[in-house]
Amino acid sequence: MSKISVVVSVYNEELSIREFYKVAQPILEKCHWDYELIFVNDGSVDKSYSILCELAKTNKKVRVVNFSRNFGHEAAMIAGIDYASGDGIVCMDADLQHPPESIPQIIQKFEEGYDVVSMIRSSREDGGFIKKITSSLFYKVLNCLSPIKFENNASDFFALSRQVADVLRKEYREKVRYLRGFVQSVGFNKTTLEYTARSRVAGESHYNLSKLIKFSMTTLCSFSDMPLRLGMYTGGFVGLCGLILMIYTIVCKIAFDTPVGYATIIVTLCFMFAIVLLVIGIIGQYISVLFSEIKNRPIYIVKNVVNSDETLKEDTYEE
Ligand code: UDP
Ligand code: MG
Repeated sequence: MSKISVVVSVYNEELSIREFYKVAQPILEKCHWDYELIFVNDGSVDKSYSILCELAKTNKKVRVVNFSRNFGHEAAMIAGIDYASGDGIVCMDADLQHPPESIPQIIQKFEEGYDVVSMIRSSREDGGFIKKITSSLFYKVLNCLSPIKFENNASDFFALSRQVADVLRKEYREKVRYLRGFVQSVGFNKTTLEYTARSRVAGESHYNLSKLIKFSMTTLCSFSDMPLRLGMYTGGFVGLCGLILMIYTIVCKIAFDTPVGYATIIVTLCFMFAIVLLVIGIIGQYISVLFSEIKNRPIYIVKNVVNSDETLKEDTYEE
């Protein structure tokens, strides 16, 4: 019998985990595929880990991968994919914003021969107007700058076949990454399914504006080298402006004998410096990405695994 692995990243979700399990477990039991539920505890500092251990005690199909500290949502998903043993893998959030009700549809897509199922938000009940606008703007800019075309409104809710998961496990070990982007850029048979993003069942979002800006910048760096060429283009543009200004100044001097304006010099200087600093900043961003890659530190560190495939006997239930 085929098996579906459901990977759930958990960071301080003590209020949502039980609720999630209550909804997801009956759905998984009813599926005609076997299942495993892999919770990746991303260094939670609340009771999440002990709740997960309780669930793992009552159900052997619940596995817990426990990180040594917080490594971030994407690292947690990568670890979940690494530890999954299913023929299909579904990554989703623990806050029920991604409906477990979609899992049977995903299984059907796998059976139809698809390898990558991107879940597209058809509408969202959370976040409101600002989040909608910023997220659509982000995808527009990304699609404009990157040679790869991304689905608008794709989310961290996606599913992969074992073959695609193997590609991610072996080839995509970048430290600065955009997992959703990798999933959409590997090729294979791709399809999409729609879902409605609900409001969080409990707790608060872990993403704030500054985290989202940082995330957007690193994503752009990892999928496009276009900003690096910005210096060349703006250099050309500013050179042209300088040439026009020079001709204008010479003409004014010869024809009307007007002196060069102080304001013109200041404005030109500010403009030039702004562009130079901007370009240096952009190069800095790319150097920071290179630096992370060269250091080659681990994407995540696992402290212990509960109910792992190989070590079922010697499992730890530390709390
Ligand atoms: N998450 C995580 N590590 C983090 C931050 C978040 O594993 O450092 C998990 C979190 O528990 C949730 C999922 O990632 O299951 C999505 O996070 P959140 O709901 O806060 O983000 P949003 O849905 O608001 O984008
Ligand atoms: Mg959420």
